[in-house]
Amino acid sequence: MSEFDLVIRGGKVITASDTFRADVGVRGGRIVAVAEKLTDGARAIDASGLLVMPGGIDSHVHLAQPSGPGVKMADGFETGTRSAVAGGNTTVLPFALQPRGASLRASVMDYHKEADGNAYCDYGFHLIVTDPTPSVLGQELPALVSDGYSSFKVFMTYDDMVLNDRQLLEVFECARGCGALVMVHCEGYDAIKFMTQRLEAAGKTAPYYHAVSRPEVVEREATHRAISHGELIDTPIMIVHVSGREAMEQIRWAQQRGLKVYGETCTQYVTLTADDLKGLNMDETGGKYVCSPPPRDRASWDAIWEGIRTGVFQTFSSDHCPFLYESGEGKLNPKARTSFKWVPNGIPGVEARLPILYSKGVVEGRITINEFVALTSTNHAKMYGLYPQKGAIGVGFDADIVLWDPNRRETIRQAIMHHGADYTPYEGMAVTGWPVMTLLRGEVVAEDGKVVGAKGAGRFLKRELSPFARPSGH
Ligand SMILES: [Zn+2]
Repeated sequence: MSEFDLVIRGGKVITASDTFRADVGVRGGRIVAVAEKLTDGARAIDASGLLVMPGGIDSHVHLAQPSGPGVKMADGFETGTRSAVAGGNTTVLPFALQPRGASLRASVMDYHKEADGNAYCDYGFHLIVTDPTPSVLGQELPALVSDGYSSFKVFMTYDDMVLNDRQLLEVFECARGCGALVMVHCEGYDAIKFMTQRLEAAGKTAPYYHAVSRPEVVEREATHRAISHGELIDTPIMIVHVSGREAMEQIRWAQQRGLKVYGETCTQYVTLTADDLKGLNMDETGGKYVCSPPPRDRASWDAIWEGIRTGVFQTFSSDHCPFLYESGEGKLNPKARTSFKWVPNGIPGVEARLPILYSKGVVEGRITINEFVALTSTNHAKMYGLYPQKGAIGVGFDADIVLWDPNRRETIRQAIMHHGADYTPYEGMAVTGWPVMTLLRGEVVAEDGKVVGAKGAGRFLKRELSPFARPSGH
């Protein structure tokens, strides 16, 4: 019997800190040896000419999430995780949403039913708290956090999810007490509502006006307010899906003051602009790009890169939130034709995240390959309580690995995507660098554009408390 189940030979191993040539030995689904030369395993994979990196961890994806009456998300766990592994990912963190009036625990149990037996990659759950009643904050939420759901998201906008300032403070206080990491969607509810009504009254109802209704100042104000509330309570917070300079500068300001404020940005904020929402002659095709916060302009791309390079952002996610375009339950639902406000918010992107960041970041010289690994895998694991099980190539880590061809040129297009959506917002984008094999705990789950793993092979991950959620204690 050989010492290893699998040896990955001759590749260049990339971690968040180092680059070196080594063989990687796997036994029992874990990495058990990293050395210059290993003896034979039961199986071998030749990785010469390839990069050996930790599988992508996408800590911001939405799958099978209730999205309001008459609207259905295009991905459940089956297609969403299939798309994830095809794109070089091995772990995703979607959100178990508490509908108003419902128990958080019951919502989590329902969400497990969606995931059980359907996932191609490992997954943990963030929670979404929409109804912070005394029993949710006093009992359900702390119990769930200690059961392995150690982070949750709150919203400062959307009719069915918005928390007011008083509620935000109460939720932050609860998080501080139980050690949860709070993710905050920062856009100001009243300002958006006001802008939307004014635009609609002026007949400006095309998808493009979605972007006009929630300009950067609305995101900046909410970001500052969340930061201030976090400071008041001494609760660390993660500002998710930052779209441009104004919110980025708020986070940098907070970090420079020593506050525990973290930042996430996403693929769409370095690749799309509000003009994409104009479609052809302001028509409905613009709805394909409706997401929140909306993509801004090219100058914002530079601001986001500046935030990435200078460490304002720790994680780069997809905010995968897919809806069908050609569907009465998706972007073209009957009401969406009357106003942008009915176009479901979100775009697919879990599969395109790694190739786009590699190409625009590493190939175009904006970040190092090690920063790429940190931004797409290691930092997600550390931030959300999965380290040192996930997020690195090292002894003891799960053998979650992506083999990456740094020279392969591809064009991102719907025809090669594995998600449930009927379009990709990145259609036609040329990239250099591509995942050619994805291994989940030592098993090949995707190879050369084909998903070969078993549905249901993905396991639920009970997560530790985030070390980044500790209050500073002053
Ligand atoms: Zn959000």
